[in-house]
Amino acid sequence: MNKTSSVQEFTFDDMKKISRTKMGKSLPIELYRAIRLIGMYQGLPMKGKGTTVTVGRKIGESLPVHSLEELLDLFRDLKIGDPQIVLEEEHKIHVAVKDCFCEGLPEMEGSMVCDLEGAIMEGALNKIIDKRVYVREIKCNVNGDEHCEYEIRF
Ligand SMILES: [Zn+2]
Repeated sequence: MNKTSSVQEFTFDDMKKISRTKMGKSLPIELYRAIRLIGMYQGLPMKGKGTTVTVGRKIGESLPVHSLEELLDLFRDLKIGDPQIVLEEEHKIHVAVKDCFCEGLPEMEGSMVCDLEGAIMEGALNKIIDKRVYVREIKCNVNGDEHCEYEIRF
């Protein structure tokens, strides 16, 4: 048994402890999409706003990353998407996410569906920088944009 502390809370490290034999380590992306879009975006009040912020920040705080670079690497490793810094100013950074999990979904103009992933960034960066950081989704494939993009403000 993988009991690491007396406090019964899962850590991100626990998430990597996978001992099932036949089914392996991966789940298909349609399951992630179903949870995100059918369950959260469509299933929760206000398209999940509020809940995604709470859930995303909590996940972000749990990530074992210590810099923006490490965070973007982890986004790549987890196959959420391929993030790249496209604008860097004193109080503002823009991160474009190519090959986002939402790429290929039907376009719905006016819809931005990757807010949870932005909230994950926000939670992680708040912990790393120890200063209030705000992350906002400003572009999304589903909206018809060329990629998904986040504005990070410090
Ligand atoms: Zn997206």
